[in-house]
Amino acid sequence: MENTTTRLHLLATYLRLRFGARVQKVPLDAGFSCPNRDGTLSRGGCVFCNPRGSGSGLGEDGLTLEEQWTVWTGRYARTRNAGLFIAYLQSFSNTYGPIDKLRHVLGVLPVLPGIVGAAVGTRPDCVDNERLDLVAALPLPEVWLELGLQSAHDATLARINRGHDAAASERAVRDAAARGLRVCAHLIAGLPGENGDDFLASVDWVNRLPVHGVKFHGLYVCEHTALARQWRAGEYTPLERETYADLIARALPRLRPEIVIQRLTGDPAGDELLAPDWAKDKRATTARIHELLAQRGTWQGKDVAKDAPNGPNGRGGLGVPNESGAPGTSGTSGAPGASPAPPALAAPPAWFAVPPHRLPGATPRLRDTEQARAWETEYAAACATFPHLRPVPDGE
Ligand code: SF4
Repeated sequence: MENTTTRLHLLATYLRLRFGARVQKVPLDAGFSCPNRDGTLSRGGCVFCNPRGSGSGLGEDGLTLEEQWTVWTGRYARTRNAGLFIAYLQSFSNTYGPIDKLRHVLGVLPVLPGIVGAAVGTRPDCVDNERLDLVAALPLPEVWLELGLQSAHDATLARINRGHDAAASERAVRDAAARGLRVCAHLIAGLPGENGDDFLASVDWVNRLPVHGVKFHGLYVCEHTALARQWRAGEYTPLERETYADLIARALPRLRPEIVIQRLTGDPAGDELLAPDWAKDKRATTARIHELLAQRGTWQGKDVAKDAPNGPNGRGGLGVPNESGAPGTSGTSGAPGASPAPPALAAPPAWFAVPPHRLPGATPRLRDTEQARAWETEYAAACATFPHLRPVPDGE
């Protein structure tokens, strides 16, 4: 039976090849706030945001970063046999507030036991040169900036009370990528006022930006949010699972093959979720997405294959936008709210196609085990089937 993960460039696979071991992201609450909650932009926040700010809540329980780390890594070591970890500053907007606070928090991370990387979650309007420089200077092999872009459409961003526009998102992505940060863009399907084509236009917009990872979320309704009030008043209806799975299965083939898929659907806390009920069962949703991809004979990047590493344009082509800023494929138009003519982008760094431990002069991967070699063999076999994957010969 087909290994369902091979149709996508998933984070788990990327990290296994990168480090030769299972790597687990550890959610941390560093006690930051958000300008969209503290009254600077608004007090209500985004319509879907509850007072936890998408966090674990452990920070509110008074645990320090080190204590949270001990709790989570102990749990993951027991339940998932993980020994390597990425610190994920998840709650609220982690580059917001005094820069000394950010400096202090980032200073704690590199000495946490088992850490191999960091992911800093924030809003596009909360990053400036100084903050990006600080994050980019983290002495860790994997450093990601996770940006909540959500939509390419200014009308939607206003409707969900984001407090920034698509131009701010573009600036933040480009400024972070220019510093060598790996940018993970968050996108939401099922936003109020949007249809499927609007969502796919946002996917195409992200695809043209220098992003290295994407997280897809289906919009769900949590208690204590503005969206909950709209849902109760009959003003908002969440997507059905089948509609959501269909949208993601249509989005993935349009996404550059080297982009790391970090999430296929959201994962609401059971005690917060009001609707839709299917959001509780993440496995069923991801299984349906994989099933649709298989039924349709497609995979991530198939629709942009002529620019992909193994596509007709050859190994040199990495699916990067051409000079007009378009991805050089099906001629998608610019999304409303996006800059009409984005400037040309530099080629993505080499690690897009080549696991970094293979790069000349790179530090060898942390674990060179039989399991790690088995994963590489499995990956090489998958490469023979799916052109979005690229075999990496020894010595490259
Ligand atoms: S930016 Fe994030 S933390 Fe701030 S209100 Fe929106 S969802 Fe909540």
